[in-house]
Amino acid sequence: MSKVVKFGGSSLADANQFRKVADIIRSDKERRYVVPSAPGKRYKDDIKVTDMLYACYDAVANEGKNAYNQFAPISERFNGIIADLGLTLSLDDEYEKIIDNFRKKAGKDYAASRGECLNGIILANYLGYEFIDAAKAIFFTSKGEFDAELTDASLASILEGYPNAVIPGFYGARPDGTIKTFSRGGSDFTGSVVARAIKADLYENWTDVPGVALADPRIVENPKFIDVITYRELRELSYMGFSVLHQDAIFPVRTAQIPINIKNTNDPAAKGTMIVPSAPEGSNEHIITGIAGKKHFSAVCLEKDEMNSEIGFLRRILTLMDNEGICFEHIPTGIDTMNIVVNSDELAEHPNFVERVKQVANPNHIEVENDLALIAVVGRGMKSKKGTATRIFAALSHANINIKMIDQGSSELNIIVGIHEADFEKAIKVIYDMFILSEG
Ligand code: ADP
Ligand code: ASP
Ligand code: MG
Repeated sequence: MSKVVKFGGSSLADANQFRKVADIIRSDKERRYVVPSAPGKRYKDDIKVTDMLYACYDAVANEGKNAYNQFAPISERFNGIIADLGLTLSLDDEYEKIIDNFRKKAGKDYAASRGECLNGIILANYLGYEFIDAAKAIFFTSKGEFDAELTDASLASILEGYPNAVIPGFYGARPDGTIKTFSRGGSDFTGSVVARAIKADLYENWTDVPGVALADPRIVENPKFIDVITYRELRELSYMGFSVLHQDAIFPVRTAQIPINIKNTNDPAAKGTMIVPSAPEGSNEHIITGIAGKKHFSAVCLEKDEMNSEIGFLRRILTLMDNEGICFEHIPTGIDTMNIVVNSDELAEHPNFVERVKQVANPNHIEVENDLALIAVVGRGMKSKKGTATRIFAALSHANINIKMIDQGSSELNIIVGIHEADFEKAIKVIYDMFILSEG
């Protein structure tokens, strides 16, 4: 048996957290490969090291400020951890190199990745494990796309040589050696990639909550936690806002069918949430598995007489979006109406889009509605139960929340509703109450 363990930023925010992490690793010899994040927040208003690095790089490379002064608070954080752990390690040479590279404008990805890299060096030293620089084992193409095959092969062959190792999360290198990061929260993805490469039996993802909650704990007070969730359910929920796991992190382990266990570093004995390939029907305590949501969407709403019978209407719009490079979130259609729901920033980046739609589709009416939020109610139990949609609509209607869009996934795994952004938190709370509190 072998396990890959990933520890998030809050799990490695200071020396005390490092000690908990080392205890967890040492208590189970199957926990062989460790993927750390950069130090996160130690208290509510603290700043994550990754955010400090982005700001420092900007100040040095773009504003020309003094690199030593700007970098000092960052080296102090790492030196504080080293001193509190009683290590003899010195990172001074590393700091020199980083400062030099900041001055040479090595890029913001390089800058951000140093948080994971330095934390990985400290953790490897503390555990007595080999440190494997992710730049030597995790690869992107020259276009900046993750190179899954090359990474899989290189990680497998490197790690074969070490019974234990620390591989920093969040970054890798392009063929020319320059550093590239995944999107924010990407250490979860690195953990999944390492688990797949070594064909691990389990990928443990250690964080600061007891697992995946049925709704974001920052919105619903004391939500219930999910015991078992499938890859597909979690993919939907993390895509729609469950930031507890990076939205792409299930993909590498999914092909290898390796389960993920989300666990709490501050309560290691608790069983956490298991993310598994499939789960039997009726294995869920509630009809729904979770409620997630995202803000900041816009809908381009079109009306055209006899749209439904006009051949090629949808194709023309999709081709236009393809050419413009716009990703859509949903395209719910009525008889003579169609809404194109897109992220508001994406729409703002293409100011001519509405004009272009008019040209290619010639609608009778077109308007843009902003400030939308999408809420996804997800659950493998929904397929076999009647009345789920009715209950969602009843909950929203009792709370006086207007539904602007409805979309049921073809798999019957989710129902998505569009509402005004101002109603977002309230909507999640009332749907939670309807399904979870009322079911006991
Ligand atoms: P880490 O630093 O360990 O990667 P993150 O901050 O990325 O941790 O993710 C954990 C956080 O995700 C939690 O502290 C919580 O605030 C947030 N979160 C959002 N949605 C959920 C959810 N449904 N269940 C649990 N946590 C959630
Ligand atoms: N440190 C990076 C971030 O803050 C990556 C991660 O924590 O997963 O986004
Ligand atoms: Mg995270």
